[in-house]
Amino acid sequence: MKKIVYFDNNATTQVSPSVFEAMVPYLTEHYGNASSAYRIGRRTREAVEQARAQVAALLGCEPREIVFTGCATESNNTAIHSALQTTGHRHVVVSAVEHSAIKNHAEYLERLGYGVTYLPVAADGTLTVKQVEEALRDDTAIVSVMWANNETGVTFPVAEIGELCRSRGVLFHTDAVQVVGKLPINLAELKIDFLSLAGHKFHAPKGVGALYVRRRVKFVPYVIGGHQEKGKRGGTENVSHIVGLGQAAVEAQKHLAEETTRVRALRDKFENTVLASVPDTFVNGNREQRTPNTSSLAFSGIEAEALLIMLDQYGVCASAGSACTTGSVEISHVLQAMGVPKERAVGTLRFSFSAYNTEAEVDYVLGILPAIVAKLRAESASAVKLKERLDAGENITEGLSLASV
Ligand SMILES: *Cc1c(COP(=O)(O)O)cnc(C)c1O
Repeated sequence: MKKIVYFDNNATTQVSPSVFEAMVPYLTEHYGNASSAYRIGRRTREAVEQARAQVAALLGCEPREIVFTGCATESNNTAIHSALQTTGHRHVVVSAVEHSAIKNHAEYLERLGYGVTYLPVAADGTLTVKQVEEALRDDTAIVSVMWANNETGVTFPVAEIGELCRSRGVLFHTDAVQVVGKLPINLAELKIDFLSLAGHKFHAPKGVGALYVRRRVKFVPYVIGGHQEKGKRGGTENVSHIVGLGQAAVEAQKHLAEETTRVRALRDKFENTVLASVPDTFVNGNREQRTPNTSSLAFSGIEAEALLIMLDQYGVCASAGSACTTGSVEISHVLQAMGVPKERAVGTLRFSFSAYNTEAEVDYVLGILPAIVAKLRAESASAVKLKERLDAGENITEGLSLASV
């Protein structure tokens, strides 16, 4: 098999070998139910509590403030649900660029008759505290804005937004999925009531997440059932995955410095070289106020999905900012909210890096990208046509003499 160059770490990440190793005993010998009284149950219970302490250490909070969930989507849903139930208020404030795990929940609440304010963002994807302040109402139950955007990496001023919300007595939740393991987080110094994270975005497996619930904040569960997680989330604990999440948190802490130096340098080298070597390319979003691993690049005059198909021929994985599978282009709500011109939005690709990427991989992609973009532009190639040609057995990389990694 051809080597894969994986530049799509905001979509998901590989499970780190030591995370996998830590998990295995809990899929084999230590299968006891963490709620059982006998010894193998105690063993798994202790493992869950160790993982809770490990996640808490990464976030700078107390272990009892961590609730394990099935995914960040569940964590996000839970925070908003709890705030609406405990306050009895019927208005929520979110940004216009939230992940679908918030956006679609907010739209669902609107259909149920709740009030939702969607805060617009500036052309560079940023949001101000003043915008949040102006959106607050007497019946606002919760403000929920992401810490960093998954498409552009642009960060929001959550420390200041937290201060504002606390001073107004409004609950504050942040979807921190794209920040955990990439930027330092110290909840002890922040006025945040709820924070969501997903294991699979920082080298734990899919299917496990966590919700930070600040102590003394009133809480009602979303998944109602047994008394697991001290009554905060029903359902038998997914012990192996929780153990994996704990180990990933330990490693994230260790790798934090590397993320903000070596990974940032890889991203910057990639981005700057693309801008210099491929004409009519642009960065979406504020280049200073963003996570160190993300680059959202607009290539004018091409369909992003066509570029993805070509890159895939060379084993390179990235993500399109807009979907054009059916021939008509659906522009991402994030790029739309930023007012990115349609031509650029259609040609936007997201490259997202991790500590598992190397400079050799960056050099490889930099070596092939300019020729691929030039070919697609010259042929005005559409993704749909490229797929048809691939299906017909045609060599779509014909005429491109490119090195292999
Ligand atoms: C990936 C992601 C989620 C959803 O995580 P799941 O594990 O799929 O539930 C939520 N928010 C952001 C910002 C994400 O990047």
